[in-house]
Amino acid sequence: MNARERKAAMAYGEKYKAFLDTARTERLAAAEIIRRAEEKGFKPVYTMKSLKAGDKVYWNQKDKSVILAVIGKEPVHEGIKIVGSHIDSPRLDLKANPVHEQDGIVYFRTHYYGGIKKYQWTCIPLALIGVVFTKDGKKVDINIGLKDSDPVFYVSDLLIHMAQDQMKKTLAEGITGEQLQAVAGTHSEEGQTPKDAIMTLLKKEYGIEEEDFAAAELELVPATKSRDVGFDRSLIASYGQDDRACAFTSVQALFDSTAKTRTNCCLCVDKEEIGSVGATGMGSHLLENAVAEIISRMSGGYSDLTLRRCLAHSAMLSSDVNAAFDPMNGNLYDKDNSSFLGGGIVFNKYTGSRGKYSASDANPEFIAKVRALMEKNDIPFQMAELGKVDQGGGGTIAYLAAKYGMDVLDAGVSVLSMHAPWELTNKEDICTAYRCYKIFLSLEK
Ligand code: MN
Ligand code: MN
Repeated sequence: MNARERKAAMAYGEKYKAFLDTARTERLAAAEIIRRAEEKGFKPVYTMKSLKAGDKVYWNQKDKSVILAVIGKEPVHEGIKIVGSHIDSPRLDLKANPVHEQDGIVYFRTHYYGGIKKYQWTCIPLALIGVVFTKDGKKVDINIGLKDSDPVFYVSDLLIHMAQDQMKKTLAEGITGEQLQAVAGTHSEEGQTPKDAIMTLLKKEYGIEEEDFAAAELELVPATKSRDVGFDRSLIASYGQDDRACAFTSVQALFDSTAKTRTNCCLCVDKEEIGSVGATGMGSHLLENAVAEIISRMSGGYSDLTLRRCLAHSAMLSSDVNAAFDPMNGNLYDKDNSSFLGGGIVFNKYTGSRGKYSASDANPEFIAKVRALMEKNDIPFQMAELGKVDQGGGGTIAYLAAKYGMDVLDAGVSVLSMHAPWELTNKEDICTAYRCYKIFLSLEK
């Protein structure tokens, strides 16, 4: 990378950090992606009577998944090009009855979401973000802790002076799921317990009563803003880079792609971290429903066969992150089959674990096509697995897209300390991911 490219990577890093600091949950990410899309002229699919080449539309799945599409000239049964990421990240969710008081401290009970090392979530500032519905049906948006002037929430850990027994436990047992309770206050008013005082405050400031937590979706996420790492500022530490690194670059790539022939599509889906389940996960019918809505508005109209042909003839880069080689734990990786920070876009033929269970296993025909595209455009790439055989493993949304018969290849950014409250990426890799997705979406066929 030359000096000009390095400067471009630095500038792109600033934009990327701004996205990460805004899109801190799947709901905030979906809202931010829709806001940016609307600025670029995208409209909700359902507001369009018909669709023609050049039209830009989006599909909002319950405010937690978004699909963007740019309509091409070619009949849609020839297939579409898709770049697909996820916008949910591991975190602590509040339970339905979260508030309780113990010995003068008011806590929020939590239940963790996705794969976390529980001890990593203690003693860090946490922001509370989400929605609450009051009994009279009012939706209250909660976003506390991201502004410097906001308070934050905090899961305590035992002081080292009294931790002899705790320190003998394994990392998995040192902090339990039930101990991940966040301090919410200690204040008390005349004649009120601390819990009553906090609830009075919540009623006054947000109009929320304790029972309203039952109809809420509140997440505790790291409150600290993303930062440059290293003297050379070559790296970024931030929460949620799995997988908003790929969501940010995919969305930008769709905005900037130049293709006119094929319909292009960008998926930003929820629930990947817990198995792509539910109405907003890739395991739902959201992709086919959205594509069906699009087809029904195109010339030729909808038929089940057109939808099936469209999906079966499609090609997708499953844009999800890969585990970067960790020199501090090098023995857990097969170095020749690992991705490295700064090594470029990571292609993974199969995710899954053990005997490739739950992998989609990309076809070499498609890999060859993507590889040729990278070589032609001078885009650095690396082929990698996630850890040694029987040591690592993990899934993406690739296999759920592959079930339609389309070509799918995992293509993402290399991340160190994946799923930690602060994950590490390389700025040049972020740029490279954007270039890779843009070139792919700019293909005419
Ligand atoms: Mn991921
Ligand atoms: Mn993940």
